[in-house]
Amino acid sequence: MRVHLVNPSDVSFGTAVITPRWLYVLAAATPPHFGTPLIADETLEPFDVASVAPGDTVGIGIHTGNALRGYTLGRLARARGAMVVFGGIHATLFPDEVRKYGDAHAVVNGDGDLVWPRVLSDCEAGTLSPSYDGGRIDGAEFSSARWELLPDNRYMWGSVQTVRGCPKHCSFCSVWRTDGQKPRQRPVSDVVREIVALRRKGFRFVLLADDNFYPVTLADLAAAGRRSDKEQLRALTALRRDRFELMAQLEHLPADMVFFTQITMEAAEDPEFLAAMRRARIRGALVGVESVTAEGLKAVYKDFNYAGEALVTRLRTFRTHGVHVLGSFIFGLPTDTNGTFEATADLARRSGVSFAQFVMLTPFPGTVDFAKWEKESADVPSIDGVPLTRYWLIPSARRPKVYAPHATMSAEEIRRGTQRVWDRFYSLPAVWRRSTCVRSIRARLAFMLISKLYRQMYANTGIATDSARVARSARRARWLANVARRLFVAAPMPNLPEPATLSPARTRPIPLRVVP
Ligand code: SF4
Repeated sequence: MRVHLVNPSDVSFGTAVITPRWLYVLAAATPPHFGTPLIADETLEPFDVASVAPGDTVGIGIHTGNALRGYTLGRLARARGAMVVFGGIHATLFPDEVRKYGDAHAVVNGDGDLVWPRVLSDCEAGTLSPSYDGGRIDGAEFSSARWELLPDNRYMWGSVQTVRGCPKHCSFCSVWRTDGQKPRQRPVSDVVREIVALRRKGFRFVLLADDNFYPVTLADLAAAGRRSDKEQLRALTALRRDRFELMAQLEHLPADMVFFTQITMEAAEDPEFLAAMRRARIRGALVGVESVTAEGLKAVYKDFNYAGEALVTRLRTFRTHGVHVLGSFIFGLPTDTNGTFEATADLARRSGVSFAQFVMLTPFPGTVDFAKWEKESADVPSIDGVPLTRYWLIPSARRPKVYAPHATMSAEEIRRGTQRVWDRFYSLPAVWRRSTCVRSIRARLAFMLISKLYRQMYANTGIATDSARVARSARRARWLANVARRLFVAAPMPNLPEPATLSPARTRPIPLRVVP
């Protein structure tokens, strides 16, 4: 019995930005007697279904965006006599749908790290169950990925997870519902060992692919400090200490390494944390800005963020600590008006963010917004018999873009406004001006290339409705990605020492100040 692991995608670029970590985590979790799994990442090239033989097991991981392609692969693999197992966020949310459309023999919900060996043993023994519950495992139990199996010269950035879960509860996000609100941090040594494995392969840019790299804020510590029972304070303090230990270890990795992560804006109020990020060479962070107004933030349950001029100050604080921000903004919030596009474009310019993405509010399964939209959409139209509330089941050529309804603007008005903001933010003069955030001409040119690549991959293929424009952008993105990859990788360091022989973390005291 051979094991196949497949990451479905409708579009293959030949080169991908970020290594799809789950494939290599499940490869590591595959017991050795099954042999090395055959890994297929369709963001590189389509899966060769003819490689599946009767009796093989095919594991397919899906999120909402690639679910339909995953279902096609599931049916094809089953028709070839394979056992088909689905996992991933979408399979966790809709197990019955996965069985119906993807011909799944089994569906795994939750974390796959520990349950995968049992699934394979049951496949081998012919005792496969229809469902497996992977649960939410502790950070110490996360599997490390088998990065030695990565194909050469295909990816730009490595990826490592340091924590799962996020204590917030934003209405448009499913992370806190699927991964939970309790941060589950991995042991520092496990994280560093994986990063060393990536650097050995030549990856010097590594994404810390976390839900929220800053899971404990100063305000959380202060609130816990006011409680008479100090248990919560001790737990949060330990989490914070671990973050600082991790960043101290990153300082000792090769000097050409650069890290990028995802963080909440509250980190801008924590100068010790920002200073540690700088020393660790965490040079970039995606910050969910979402809205530039207080009303907009309240509408998405994100009122811990700042709005207006305070927002500009917070975003600039990241920059002054050497952290480039990829600001993420949402359009189509209930409180948005026609003036929101201009105001957002202006704030994005003034706040000094290096990159930005502008997305339209979309009801994603597993979110509060989706539940509300589904409840209020009893009479939605159907396409080919599929109601719009199951839009991911409509073939992509016929699938309309589905956005949250708005009281005063049509979806087309919001889409056009969003496209205008992308066009303005990524115009050549604007990108050239922003490129002063790096010093050399070579670095500035690289900055421009990456800005253009980001725009091609995201704006033109994500929100454009004109299929010719989408196809053109995909071609350009493929070409740009191949050129850009060379900017990110470095010569492999096969002899880079294991973490045990790295210099010990500095003796600098870990800042554990509790703000009253
Ligand atoms: S959007 Fe970010 S901060 Fe909000 S719940 Fe999701 S991961 Fe957490």
